[in-house]
Amino acid sequence: MKFGGTSVEDATAIDRIAGIVKDRVPERPLVVVSAMAKVTDQLLAMAGAAGAGDLDKALELCLKLRERHYTTAGELLGTGLHTELHSELGEMFNSLEQLLRGICAVGELTPRTSDHVASFGERLSSMIIAPAFVARGLNAALLDARQVIVTDAQHMRAVPQVDEINHRLEIKVAPLLADGRVPVMGGFIGSTPEGKTTTIGRGGSDFSAALVGAGLNAERIEIWTDVDGMKTTDPRVCPDAHRIKIISFEEAAELAYFGAKVLHPATVLPAVEKNIPVLVLNSRNPKNEGTRILSHPEPSKSLFKAIAVKSRITIIDIVSARMLMAHGFLNKVFEVFARHRCAVDVVSTSEVSVSLTVDSNEAIPQIAADLEDLGQVKYSGRQAIVCLVGEAIRERSGVAAQVFDAIRDINVRMISQGASEINLTFVVDEADVPEAVRRLHAKFFADVDPEVFD
Ligand code: ADP
Ligand code: ASP
Ligand code: MG
Repeated sequence: MKFGGTSVEDATAIDRIAGIVKDRVPERPLVVVSAMAKVTDQLLAMAGAAGAGDLDKALELCLKLRERHYTTAGELLGTGLHTELHSELGEMFNSLEQLLRGICAVGELTPRTSDHVASFGERLSSMIIAPAFVARGLNAALLDARQVIVTDAQHMRAVPQVDEINHRLEIKVAPLLADGRVPVMGGFIGSTPEGKTTTIGRGGSDFSAALVGAGLNAERIEIWTDVDGMKTTDPRVCPDAHRIKIISFEEAAELAYFGAKVLHPATVLPAVEKNIPVLVLNSRNPKNEGTRILSHPEPSKSLFKAIAVKSRITIIDIVSARMLMAHGFLNKVFEVFARHRCAVDVVSTSEVSVSLTVDSNEAIPQIAADLEDLGQVKYSGRQAIVCLVGEAIRERSGVAAQVFDAIRDINVRMISQGASEINLTFVVDEADVPEAVRRLHAKFFADVDPEVFD
């Protein structure tokens, strides 16, 4: 059971999830928690301020965070327990302050130190939640995620080492479960084999939960969040989005990758490999059935399952006559991106040009400069990928015509349909996204199959 930031945002939320976990005790749950809502952003902001030499600002932010955690712990625990935890939290915050002072003194924020600062979010939330569970009658055991989630040393997006993780799960976690304990651990963070703290990418607590669930051969993986499951589109853009009752691994992975923030894209992989169902559920409305992600759900009548949007995208165009009839050209292009460790999302090519999209990032001017050796390079930011997902795309004809007819007056910059044939993806200006999504949603989700949607 993984609880995201909003599900642990304050004492009320934590009290609520204690109730949810209690109902699952006969099924021997393990709990993975995120940092309290917005805490990771705040930690990274204070690390940034310290790195830029603004120690006052960093310490001020740190003080607010200290007070928030003290208040939450105080509201959750009786006096005796609270005194003990209060001093442990105090030590944590003192060492965080030390760290910020150190960053400021050095005048530089390295990825390694950034990870160290970011790790406080999940360490603090799990430190509070485990005793709060105990105080509510759960036999909880706090587990330091860094003892279990072993990763490589690529700070800020470290890669989990699955064999070692599975080994640690077997020796450190399985015995707790066998003993009837409810292990509580932070998501998102890990450690290199040498003991250096790492993080596995923003939104990574879902991934942690999937790694643990797969490693322990769990019956299912539950991702508890603040909406009733995966929706046909981001409910903030379209309030009339429907809940998707059942979706395939393939569709869910595609959606998560193209921006449906509700699930981290890597979450589905460990689950797929072991065919473990993933459920997306609402901690504020636990009676709702949420979304079930399965390997082979019944085929549905609906053309699309959902529309996802990934904003803050840059398109890079490379035009080169040398591409004509040449071999190895794309290889050279991709080599440049690989050198900058920059992932490419959508690609389309013609005889003499290639267009690619990447997440907007500060390395783009340098990447563009390196690509100049290969041809004329142009790039434009503030773009967004819109992705329609559905397994039925495979069998239907005329799908593209229907889609582009709905948005015929909106300028489409790139179009792609992947080999999996379950998505239709295109790129538009960020400013056109709300209108495009609302129109597509109105066209394809006005009258939906009640077997699949709510
Ligand atoms: P958590 O803190 O629980 O990990 P996130 O903020 O990462 O929660 O993800 C939940 C949010 O994802 C929702 O509040 C919703 O606004 C957003 N979201 C984006 N696309 C979708 C979608 N297709 N279905 C459901 N939620 C979505
Ligand atoms: N707290 C981390 C983040 O905000 C990880 C997570 O919540 O999934 O990115
Ligand atoms: Mg999330």
